[in-house]
Amino acid sequence: MTPLIPFHFKGEYALKTVIRDGLIVTQNESREVLRGDVLVDDGVISHVGEAKGDVDQEVDAGGCVVMPGLINCHTHVAMAVMRGMADDLGLGPFLERTFAVDARRKAKDIEAGALLGCAEMARSGTTSFLDLYYSEDIIARSVEKAGLRAYLGWAVLDEELTTQKGRPVDNCARFIEQFGNHPLITPVVAPQGVYACSDETLMAARELARTKGTFCHYHLSETRHEVYEYKKSRGRRPVEHLAHIGFLSGGDVAAHCVWLTLNEVRDLARHGVSAVHCPTSNMKLAGGGVSPLPEMFENDATVCLGTDGCSSNNSLDMFLEMKFAALLQKSSRWDASVLPAQKALDLATIDAARSLGANERIGSIEPGKRADIVIIDCQHPAMAPTTADNIVANLVYASPSKAVRDTMVDGKFVVRDGRFTRADEHKVAAEAVACAQELLSG
Ligand SMILES: [Zn+2]
Repeated sequence: MTPLIPFHFKGEYALKTVIRDGLIVTQNESREVLRGDVLVDDGVISHVGEAKGDVDQEVDAGGCVVMPGLINCHTHVAMAVMRGMADDLGLGPFLERTFAVDARRKAKDIEAGALLGCAEMARSGTTSFLDLYYSEDIIARSVEKAGLRAYLGWAVLDEELTTQKGRPVDNCARFIEQFGNHPLITPVVAPQGVYACSDETLMAARELARTKGTFCHYHLSETRHEVYEYKKSRGRRPVEHLAHIGFLSGGDVAAHCVWLTLNEVRDLARHGVSAVHCPTSNMKLAGGGVSPLPEMFENDATVCLGTDGCSSNNSLDMFLEMKFAALLQKSSRWDASVLPAQKALDLATIDAARSLGANERIGSIEPGKRADIVIIDCQHPAMAPTTADNIVANLVYASPSKAVRDTMVDGKFVVRDGRFTRADEHKVAAEAVACAQELLSG
């Protein structure tokens, strides 16, 4: 596949950078926390420990935590421009409201919304995300500008239900052709959900992902109402149906997975489908129920976390998502140990990387991995006192996003000293506000 856009990434890795004297939360196999340096060479972590020798750039991380970048496994980044447009509504009226606004969207506000979302994620320590939307080719422009790593899932659904021009599955195929060789963008096939996709559409998406060597990302069993209605009309629950038609496939990533029976949990685990838990969105839309994470862990399902879009969450802060995931499970299971801080951190880093089939490349600070790194100032009032003993708990239960000092993606800083380096943040926000006003008045 030949990329249709010029890539300007090569040649930008001239700098050899050392991040000096930080408290490193490695997220390696033994979950080591150690004090030392991280050496980054040509976009790759080349050494963790004491770094000697000449470097081009030295970054002092004394008093800071150095950790792997967070991975947001379910969002609709372009909806950042729709923040605060549909609040305090249940899923039905919420969808009505967002679809009405969505139908008026133009390339300009999709691009502005995506850049706003990318800036928010970079500033709150997220280095990779998995998106589901149409017009991912436009979103890709903002992702390139922001310098984030992204898995962009082009929405595939029945033709009569979409505002996309042409067959969504063909549009998705074209997008994969366009971005198949990109260093930071991985195209993904995103059948929206069983409620918007016939069996034919689902299997066409499945076949496209198989032939292009990518995976499918989709919404699954988000609310009780949706599962109840599906079973009433189709005779099977969604996961049962997907298993029955041969859709479930290893490497796929399913968002929400709230209303599952134990058999469905086992079905997903057996087929190697990862579940993205989106606690904030689930609680805010009051879909009822709590995603059965303990049962997923018991059955060795891979679990990760997602914010969902800004219209159902209002925030793309993955630190908050870790906290809410842990609190929701503790509260609903009457068990404070059911989702400990270390596991919550795993869900947003190394387990998320595994969900994306990328755990050999990202998700931890280890030699050989791409340099996706976040530096947090632990002298910030929201983080002190932080020590090697309480650091993991503070990363999950305190407010690290307020103290994110630097964010590096693929060896390059996209946030430095608390500022987004890839564009003027105020201009990004102002542009998004203008687009939001236009959308609301349209
Ligand atoms: Zn969603």
